Amino acid sequence: MDFDLSVAQRDVRERAAELADGEVAPHAAQWDREDHFPDEVFEKLAEAGFMGLCVPEEYGGGGMDFLSYVLLIEEISRADAGVGVTLAVHTSAGTLPILTHGTGEQKARWVPELARGQKIGCFALTEPEAGSDAAAIQAWAERVPGGYRISGHKQWVTNGRVASTMVLFARAPEGVTAFVVDMDAGGISLGEHARKMGVISATTDDVLFDDLFVPEEDRLGEEGDGLRIALGTLAGGRIGIAAQALGIAEAAFRYAARYATQRTTFGKPIAEHQAVAFKLADMQTKLEAARLLVHKAAWIKDQGLRHVEIGAQAKLHASTVANEVAYEALQVLGGQGYMKDHPVERYYRDARVTEIYEGTSEIQRLVVSEGIVRDLAAQGVGPEPDTVGA
Ligand SMILES: Cc1cc2nc3c(=O)[nH]c(=O)nc-3n(C[C@H](O)[C@H](O)[C@H](O)COP(=O)(O)OP(=O)(O)OC[C@H]3O[C@@H](n4cnc5c(N)ncnc54)[C@H](O)[C@@H]3O)c2cc1C
Repeated sequence: MDFDLSVAQRDVRERAAELADGEVAPHAAQWDREDHFPDEVFEKLAEAGFMGLCVPEEYGGGGMDFLSYVLLIEEISRADAGVGVTLAVHTSAGTLPILTHGTGEQKARWVPELARGQKIGCFALTEPEAGSDAAAIQAWAERVPGGYRISGHKQWVTNGRVASTMVLFARAPEGVTAFVVDMDAGGISLGEHARKMGVISATTDDVLFDDLFVPEEDRLGEEGDGLRIALGTLAGGRIGIAAQALGIAEAAFRYAARYATQRTTFGKPIAEHQAVAFKLADMQTKLEAARLLVHKAAWIKDQGLRHVEIGAQAKLHASTVANEVAYEALQVLGGQGYMKDHPVERYYRDARVTEIYEGTSEIQRLVVSEGIVRDLAAQGVGPEPDTVGA
């Protein structure tokens, strides 16, 4: 067992930390306050090769592994979780499904501009009446000569108003189907821009489709493959959201630890009161354990192994830890923690959504528990007769 990162992975982490500390963190409070989407940062991320870090070089990407991508998301999210989720959705939900399920032609056409950051990608599955229950989507793709005509309403699309390319899911005659859509096509309009509690520098928008024509060659996979593509995409994507959660928790922990050595009560720094010191110990321990799980999930994905359950565990645990750590960090700051003068209240707000998007914590528990039951069934283990109906 080797817990060391490779030289290349360490290099990514250092470069990402430098960009995060230099170009992102100093502005995060302002972007949060002004509901500003920072285009300028995405140019810098593109220059650094971070918009397609884990995309193969032949498609314009950095050719790095998924673990490197996870390190990148953690570092960027440590500075600004909104920028972190923008990058995560662009990469793992807006680009990777085309790479994984696209034909050679589709990959060559769509992926390089996304991977170089010349275009931003998005992923539109959720609708007002279908979130966790993705199979219930109502957007309709009617077959017409040469392709499809799509109508429907997608809700809370991260990057909706800044993306040029969308991976879109709609119900075709053979079932839920995935499409790659150019956002400039006629028939697409923007709905409401969500006013959120956190991750405010990310833009979250409703997108409406009215008789959008999508040629057959822009269908991703076969008709009816859409749910498999969506769920497969989210299985990897949620490891990125777990990394976002780590970044938020790390930022909150660092801020609280520094504050605790500076704030004095009863004649000594609060870090020397055991109640505060033990909070810091618990925060760091939880964070370290969550990081191991997230890195393991990324590593398993990099080995090409099944990562559905471990990815769900990573997101479930890391998002729980992010919320706990942000809560305790705020407590360590006392009244100051509740004020906008410190970033901890932002971390607290930002942490909350990591338990919701790319599958709620309840859905992660469903995924993990179904895995347990399936593994037991594969071993031929059923319930003991005397416990049935007890
Ligand atoms: C900021 C933000 C950005 C987002 N970005 C995107 C995006 O880019 N693309 C996209 O497609 N979607 C996006 N979403 C949508 C997100 O993925 C959904 O909000 C999420 O999947 C939950 O769906 P829902 O909100 O409809 O909740 P619901 O499905 O209505 O669930 C409500 C509650 O019931 C629980 N619940 C539901 N079903 C079960 C069950 N079977 N067992 C136990 N509990 C259950 C849920 O856990 C939750 O607590 C975004 C959401 C937010 C908040």
